[in-house]
Amino acid sequence: MRTLIFLLTSVLLFSPLTADAQDNRAALEAAAKALGATGLKSIEIQGGGTFFWFGQSYSAGTAGPQFNVRSFKRVVNYDTASLLDEMVRTRALEPPKGGGPYVRGEHKAVAVLSGDYAWNVMGETAAPAPVALAERQLQLWSTPHGVIKAAMAGKGTMQGRTITFAVPGSFKATATLDAANLVERVDATMANPVLGDVPVTVSYADYRDFGGVKFPTKIRQNYGGFPALDITVTEVTPNVAADIPVPDNIKQASNPYARVQSQKAADGVWYLTGGTHHSAVIEMSDHVIVVESPLNDDRALAVIKETRALVPNKPIKYLVVSHQHFDHAGGVRALAGEGATLIVHDASLKFFQQVVAAPATVSPDHLAKSGRKATVEGVRDRRVLTDGTRTVEIRQIAGIQHADDMLMVYLPKEKFLIEADAYTPPAPNAAPMSPPSPFNVTLVENITKQGLAIDQILPLHGRMVPLAELQKAAGVAP
Ligand SMILES: [Zn+2]
Repeated sequence: MRTLIFLLTSVLLFSPLTADAQDNRAALEAAAKALGATGLKSIEIQGGGTFFWFGQSYSAGTAGPQFNVRSFKRVVNYDTASLLDEMVRTRALEPPKGGGPYVRGEHKAVAVLSGDYAWNVMGETAAPAPVALAERQLQLWSTPHGVIKAAMAGKGTMQGRTITFAVPGSFKATATLDAANLVERVDATMANPVLGDVPVTVSYADYRDFGGVKFPTKIRQNYGGFPALDITVTEVTPNVAADIPVPDNIKQASNPYARVQSQKAADGVWYLTGGTHHSAVIEMSDHVIVVESPLNDDRALAVIKETRALVPNKPIKYLVVSHQHFDHAGGVRALAGEGATLIVHDASLKFFQQVVAAPATVSPDHLAKSGRKATVEGVRDRRVLTDGTRTVEIRQIAGIQHADDMLMVYLPKEKFLIEADAYTPPAPNAAPMSPPSPFNVTLVENITKQGLAIDQILPLHGRMVPLAELQKAAGVAP
């Protein structure tokens, strides 16, 4: 309960004119009664439908890859401000086009929120996911009963058929009620590390009565102008036992993105790991090149700090972006805020120009605070950066179905290849995927066609491995 009070004391509500306050309260209570929200502490809903992974599209500025949701289960506990979403899904396309983990067949995704903690569960392992906090808070409070509870806990205001509410730093939203006083639509602006302010709409239709509680049987969500979720609800259980405890490792992981470990891979070349997404730092005669700024501001600022410690007194001149997927581009804005020029593939040049110009009013970030205007440069097939001593080749990974804007970085003298998502080394001694991932196969084809001489791969997920590991995964002889 403390979490709910803590969260909702910060809920912003507009124009509580004293004369209208009692009318507002009465209108909210009428809406709560219509929905059956008054005595509702928790709810479980089940259904199925379609999910589109926002931020993982094949082409920047298009819908995310589609998944069939065989089963969807959502448990919400309004008293503890927690939510657990479980989806069993399959990819709509095989082989896949676009991002998200490449898993064949059915797989289960579990996303959890409790208060200010967000985490994912895979098998028995809970992994912190603070980058998902804003979205999950919006998912929780934009549920029909969540809207009413958020407004009531914040002594909310209703004007006509709209309720305005927010969780500062995460989202602001307006809900619209229909003639029967049921929530039919939520229009929100959500904070996002890549896009800044993102418009989100949630629409509810075909309400039914489930044991005195009204709940919509159609839920549609749209993120940034693209479909994100389309669910048909088949079962609703009010006031289920909904204990969603925060695992100890999640409580202790205060800021997992701030942990950066650096490893010298060659003279003037460092591999920056320590979390789920890596970067590389390359020292040139009078500046530094950073390859990849993933996740969010927190990660980016930690990577910048480590870069400054490794190479003091040289500015970060370039950031090379492997591709536009949001997990890999979440720190792009922070590097732009430091004055780095972004190097991206031509296919997403316009997208990144919009990214660095986008407002971030819900959660003002490093770029918004810096007031800088960033430069973005595009590469088609290949661009060579050199200082006369070291050569850095930025090359396209042509034909790969993961994304149409993929760049890799080749260091010919060191015989290093830096790449993301075309190949992620599996755990040592894990059996290779059979048949092999087409992304691995395409990367090998690119290496051969482009005539690259490689000793080591520095993948932006996983660990540094010799080229032979990729060849084994791709099912080709070294
Ligand atoms: Zn990707």
